[in-house]
Amino acid sequence: MKYVSTRGGIDPVSFREAVLMGLARDGGLLLPESFPDVRDRLATWSRLPYADLAFEVIRLFADDLPADDLRAIVRRSYASFRPVPPAPDQAWTGPEPVPVRPTGPVHLMELYHGPTLAFKDVALQFLGNLFEYVLGDGGRELNVVVATSGDTGSAAIHGLRGRKGIRIFVLHPAGRVSPVQEMQMTSVLDDNVFNIALDGTFDDAQRIVKTLFADLPFKDARHLGAVNSINWARVLAQVVYYFYGAFRTMERTGAPEVSFAVPTGNFGDVFAGYVAWRMGLPVRRLHVATNENDILARFFSTGVYSLGEVVPTISPSMDIQVASNFERWLFLRAGGDAARVRAWMDAFARDRSLRLDPLPDGTQDPVLRAGRADTAATLATIRRFHDEFGVLLDPHSAVGVSVALASGDPAPLVCLCTAHPAKFPDAIARATGDASLATAPEVEALRGAPTRKFPLPADAKAVADFVAART
Ligand SMILES: *Cc1c(COP(=O)(O)O)cnc(C)c1O
Repeated sequence: MKYVSTRGGIDPVSFREAVLMGLARDGGLLLPESFPDVRDRLATWSRLPYADLAFEVIRLFADDLPADDLRAIVRRSYASFRPVPPAPDQAWTGPEPVPVRPTGPVHLMELYHGPTLAFKDVALQFLGNLFEYVLGDGGRELNVVVATSGDTGSAAIHGLRGRKGIRIFVLHPAGRVSPVQEMQMTSVLDDNVFNIALDGTFDDAQRIVKTLFADLPFKDARHLGAVNSINWARVLAQVVYYFYGAFRTMERTGAPEVSFAVPTGNFGDVFAGYVAWRMGLPVRRLHVATNENDILARFFSTGVYSLGEVVPTISPSMDIQVASNFERWLFLRAGGDAARVRAWMDAFARDRSLRLDPLPDGTQDPVLRAGRADTAATLATIRRFHDEFGVLLDPHSAVGVSVALASGDPAPLVCLCTAHPAKFPDAIARATGDASLATAPEVEALRGAPTRKFPLPADAKAVADFVAART
């Protein structure tokens, strides 16, 4: 399987090269040349435990890794999840990293049982093991630089801490991430972890990271690597749970297809669902769920992709306007025509807006739909699920559930739960009046732990010097 760039400017590369490259060198995103059709395997796959299913899915795209090595990488990645017993009526009955529970009108897929209690662990535990393996014993190095508004940084640190040949530099806006998120990052004291507390905003952090990566001589000399969701391996690891969630829900309900609701920011998670559909998983709809930052919801309703201002909300990991993975969808929408993607991206950069003609049925896509849930709807959903079903949803997951229920979709609704409620006690308190409901031993254990961080000004040169001095 070879990988091509959405901008068409590189020769096809292998999976290993794609993992290390992150962003394509022409500024595009990497995608496999084709998607395997797995419809003849679905019945067999539906009987596999999570880690075995992950191996079967990933090997199709990572065919330059020896099968036994890949199997070991995948096993190790999901051993770090606390095993949760599945619901009693599930056909697969071993403890699983990703339980799927019927709850009232929906099926909740809990993706937050990894070390940092957010779904990003599913991909970043795998990516950490994969990086270490691909670098091998040859003394090669990788220096990961990443900007975070909270969840990505902690999940990346926990995926890469203590790994041979790898250092990780995480830029967070000082004082602007939640206390739990900050502790999850700064309490990791491994020698290869550098938490940079930037005197600026998340946008400053992201701009600085982009500046460093755009300086190709610096990028090459310092062996910079990326772990944000532009890295294809992250999307790939997430494809697995769409199969898993669909299998559990189809066997429970007897339905021939399911729909998913996906709390969306950078479009990486829902794009993984799109890949699963392209591979032949029977998906009726993928509901892109946004908060007030609704550029994607507006696009899928109107065909106009137009930039707004970022509004801070109670679901901060979705407070994004330009969704980086959207370019992957554009490439598929253009039938793989990179020239058209380049023209669209140029138009968007120039006008801050892009209009696409609809398909013959008036929509933009056969499966993707979108909806928006504002703060009031999100809080009401948290309250309702707590009162009626005794289940606590974090604010991101609640956006997805709100959008799913408002969609009127007749298929069984699998709602992705992307974070543990204990990460967002303030929102839980606003919804239920009781912050103490949202607890997790992993969060309690952070209290009073020693921390380390490096304050720096919001200046690309200062960050580049800091990285250069340590690599
Ligand atoms: C990152 C994140 C999201 C958004 O996922 P994307 O892949 O960026 O669309 C949603 N919820 C939580 C809790 C997250 O951390």
